[in-house]
Amino acid sequence: MPTSIVETDIAKLDAADPLAGFRKQFELPAGLVYLDGNSLGALPTRTSARTAQVLATEWGERLIRSWNISGWMEMPTRLGDKIGRIIGAAAGQVISADSTSINVYKTMAAALAMRPERRVILSTEDNFPTDLYMIQGLMQQLGDRHTLKLVDGEHIAEYITDEVAAVTLTHVNYKTGRMYDMPGITAKAHQHGALTMWDLAHSAGALPVHLDDCMADFAVGCGYKYLNGGPGAPAFLYVATRHQNSFSQPLSGWLGHAAPFAFTNDYAPADGIGRYMCGTPPVLSMSALECGVDMMIEADMQRIRAKSLALTDLYIQLINESCARHFGHEGLQLATPTQRETRGSQVSWQHPQGYAIMQALISLGVVGDFRAPDIIRFGVTPLYTSYADIWRAAQTLCQVLDQRLWDQPQFQQRKKVT
Ligand SMILES: *Cc1c(COP(=O)(O)O)cnc(C)c1O
Repeated sequence: MPTSIVETDIAKLDAADPLAGFRKQFELPAGLVYLDGNSLGALPTRTSARTAQVLATEWGERLIRSWNISGWMEMPTRLGDKIGRIIGAAAGQVISADSTSINVYKTMAAALAMRPERRVILSTEDNFPTDLYMIQGLMQQLGDRHTLKLVDGEHIAEYITDEVAAVTLTHVNYKTGRMYDMPGITAKAHQHGALTMWDLAHSAGALPVHLDDCMADFAVGCGYKYLNGGPGAPAFLYVATRHQNSFSQPLSGWLGHAAPFAFTNDYAPADGIGRYMCGTPPVLSMSALECGVDMMIEADMQRIRAKSLALTDLYIQLINESCARHFGHEGLQLATPTQRETRGSQVSWQHPQGYAIMQALISLGVVGDFRAPDIIRFGVTPLYTSYADIWRAAQTLCQVLDQRLWDQPQFQQRKKVT
């Protein structure tokens, strides 16, 4: 890392940034430093025009005919193939559908059905709650025959044994930004005959993912985070081709049927990834998501990763240089790995006053978020985060700590969404 950084260096970094042109393709409020794109991505300018067209022409004028003439019916697979390009999946293995939570259910049901003699589901204590909740619901549906074993992520590989049916991990931890070794853990799982299910909520669009190369079995992920699909955007799921016809998932809705418009009374799953569909795709939301995904494809994922690492390195370095007096057990502690290989695209700090610190930051125009009990999170989205944003975020965090701005009653009031 370079020694002491000054503001003029920051301007040079932004001037030399090959991704800088993308920022003006987003609607970002002037003066705001937005570091929450890992929770809700920013609005791409093209999305407004495209959704207006879908409303006025495709829905308003063409009405029901649009299912055939506006490409509505193909949206889940068309969008899935595009997302596949971002996560290293060849065509025909990804669909856009439902929510991440529902996709956890469908893919885990498939994984467990494919290992009927095994009873252990292995995951980590720090996994995202909805993944664990959905698995608990599934286990109940299956007659409480399985055990969900939650272990310390540092040592996950040691717990993979021949009893394990499926290993399920969130690739990049939502709180700390720590990234798991997808190739290594997948290989270890396969040595023991276990299947893997990866949650890519904080990976898709954030960093290069190579599902096919890793021989991953199943994956799920979000559309509204790094893919900039809009609030509640449809999610996606991946099933490797070799597994697609092994099992038909339990949410056997008509659009996963081999011939939905035959209207027969018995379910017969479609061949391939199509059987992971359930009901009618949300066309309006999907057309918005497609804009975000198209933009991500136009930007090279290697460039996104290089800039993401440079931005997170910079943030850590700036805080180390200017805020060191606030470090300590009762003060600020870095929660994100300093090693680049295990870092996602965010920087998180722990602080006992984390909630109020974040509220103070937001009041000063630096938007990140808070995750209980004590994590402040700053997501880095290289398509629209600039080096100057990171500079201002670091300056403002120091100001909040130096001036104890968090210690004001209006910042201590907990809101519903943190
Ligand atoms: C954001 C997130 C989800 C969200 O799931 P929804 O069904 O979209 O609410 C799931 N898993 C992880 C790891 C997440 O970070």
